[in-house]
Amino acid sequence: MDLLVILQHMDKDKVKALLARPERIVIVTHKNPDGDAIGSSLGLYHYLVKKGHPVTVIVPNDFAPFLKWMPGCDTIVDFEKNSIKAKETIAQAEIIFCLDFNTLKRIEEAGEEVRRSTAIKFLIDHHPAPEEFADFKFHNVKACSTAQLVYEFIELLGDKSLVDVNTGICLYTGIMTDTASFRFPSVTGQTHRIAAELIELGVPHYKAHEQVYDSSTYDRLRLLGYALSEKMKVMKEYNTAYISLSAEELKRFNHQQGDTEGLVNYCLSMEGIRLAAFFMEKDGTIKTSFRSKGKVDVNAFARAHFNGGGHVNAAGGSLNVRTAEEAVVKFKEALPTIKDVLTK
Ligand code: 5GP
Ligand code: MN
Repeated sequence: MDLLVILQHMDKDKVKALLARPERIVIVTHKNPDGDAIGSSLGLYHYLVKKGHPVTVIVPNDFAPFLKWMPGCDTIVDFEKNSIKAKETIAQAEIIFCLDFNTLKRIEEAGEEVRRSTAIKFLIDHHPAPEEFADFKFHNVKACSTAQLVYEFIELLGDKSLVDVNTGICLYTGIMTDTASFRFPSVTGQTHRIAAELIELGVPHYKAHEQVYDSSTYDRLRLLGYALSEKMKVMKEYNTAYISLSAEELKRFNHQQGDTEGLVNYCLSMEGIRLAAFFMEKDGTIKTSFRSKGKVDVNAFARAHFNGGGHVNAAGGSLNVRTAEEAVVKFKEALPTIKDVLTK
């Protein structure tokens, strides 16, 4: 374990003592939860339940159907749909785990509830520059996923024997989705060792791949085809490609939560492209996604121009303009600020 992991060894005994008796625990993860958010949260959930704690996972809003097969996902409380229950559960929590986000703004309304709570707070995350709000941080920007950090957290507490198939399939899915199936530079020997240990435990790894990647609806695939053939634009002078979708276009393909996830990666899969962007009209704002290769820092770009953030090569944000096309105009205005790194 490297030095970037901030949980001091001194604290390990404190954490062990804290988790030795049953406590009311809440696990909360970021808005528009992705595979790592849900996988790491449910992986930790199964481990903590096995240790005898009453645990509730809370998400700020709904998530994609292709993640709704993971064991325990039917126990998740959606803050947007069930805010009274979510608020009550947070208020009663004695321990709160914050997973896969670095600032309380990322959990929207739930953030204020968490900030106000007197519970002991843990942060387990791999996004850069985390906000100081947690009593215990288990943080490593080099980790490929929060799910990997959850596994390392359990290992650090000497509880690897409590990792079962339920914990394992959730953590495997988190690692798999945040690394686009073990292909990013953040994947290390350690990542593969963890995956190997989970597979040896009997985790049906193939099921995670099938459920996540082979479960598109007819409409989703048609939307993908439309987006790629009609809406993808290339800006050769910036080695950039982008797609924008209006609310009307999304409606035409009966858009469901999660249908556009991964779309931005197709732009990045084109030869020579170093920056890919995606814009969609959603809930009155324009949701944006950025992906990049090498030194093109989309975390900094999203922070500077799109009220967002994320990782160096994968980030997102939102813009309060009326249409996706207006967001594209802003995007084009911002591109010259990073022209050097995009072209040299
Ligand atoms: P995605 O494009 O898949 O929504 O997100 C890619 C990465 O950027 C994820 O790590 C996600 O947590 C982060 N991200 C997405 N949207 C936002 C945002 O609005 N604010 C911040 N700070 N991070 C975001
Ligand atoms: Mn993550």
